[in-house]
Amino acid sequence: MVVTTRSLDDRYGRVATDLRVSLTDRCNLRCSYCMPPEGLDWLPDEAVLSHDEVVRLVRIGTDLLGIQEVRFTGGEPLVRRGLVGLVGRTRAIDPALEISLTTNALGLSRQAQALADAGLDRVNVSLDTMRADTFAEITRRDRHRDVVDGLAAARAAGLGPVKINAVLLRGVNDDEAPALLRWAIAEGYDLRFIEQMPLDAQHNWSRESMITADEIFSRLEAEFDLTPASEPRGSAPAELFTVDGGPATVGVIASVTRPFCGDCDRVRLTADGQIRNCLFAREESDLRAALRGGATDEQIADRWVLAMAGKRAGHGIDDPTFLQPDRPMSAIGG
Ligand code: SAM
Repeated sequence: MVVTTRSLDDRYGRVATDLRVSLTDRCNLRCSYCMPPEGLDWLPDEAVLSHDEVVRLVRIGTDLLGIQEVRFTGGEPLVRRGLVGLVGRTRAIDPALEISLTTNALGLSRQAQALADAGLDRVNVSLDTMRADTFAEITRRDRHRDVVDGLAAARAAGLGPVKINAVLLRGVNDDEAPALLRWAIAEGYDLRFIEQMPLDAQHNWSRESMITADEIFSRLEAEFDLTPASEPRGSAPAELFTVDGGPATVGVIASVTRPFCGDCDRVRLTADGQIRNCLFAREESDLRAALRGGATDEQIADRWVLAMAGKRAGHGIDDPTFLQPDRPMSAIGG
């Protein structure tokens, strides 16, 4: 069989090489900026891609479409049964593939070493606060200790650089930027602040109340000397700054106030097998139907290429016609 290698280009010259794979829409936290206390109507089991289906799509992405990096996310990927085995099968596809995990770290202390042994390269852990009571307020679960332990286990297992993603919420944890940074530096973690985005299931986000990158800088600069890092940013979402002359850095992912769509190299696969060419896309392309309908690898690759071709120039959050996507972040895969 003749196999054609293509790339996931769009009309604006961008090429997607970084695949975010959501393994489940379920989560064991209830972060207030993400979902309501009662959770959401989870996808039924049969709608979710099996391990075999995930592995096949990742292989099509790497072998036929130029994917170089795979990040497993969710929902919470650690609640997906058999994650270690799935990482091992993904590693077997290509020893050079970058494989990472975005996680809340609950239970990571038990799985970090096995994940590293299976071939996971790195983790990004979400942690918004150093205060246990504030953590319980934001996530509606009293699990701060587990996250801190999970981070330490990831570091010990060599899943580095261990990155921490933090979202600041006005009046809740927005006073904590310097304390988070000081702690992350002391522990050897790379901290990045993420602007809150209009991706919550409750549609409570507002431009007026979100903490902007400018506010994050001014809070950090009250205690640290920040200078733009010399290394080129490339397609990385975080703007990096050297802290107090280095070597420590801090990142700011200003998706709302300083969008970086022009450099985007990402494509997302939802847990139910839909390709999304943007976090904020309003259309999806159904690869699960193709998979389950008996399509060949080439046919699936063709459908995927077509899905990317329609990627818009930017997410348009600041456009008056912006409409929040139907699916929240937890269902898309953050
Ligand atoms: N459960 C995993 C975790 O906690 O990292 C993976 C999925 S979670 C949706 C991925 C990231 O999205 C987390 O860092 C979370 O803080 C962030 N997130 C969720 N909703 C967000 C929002 N509305 N704006 C900005 N970040 C958000």
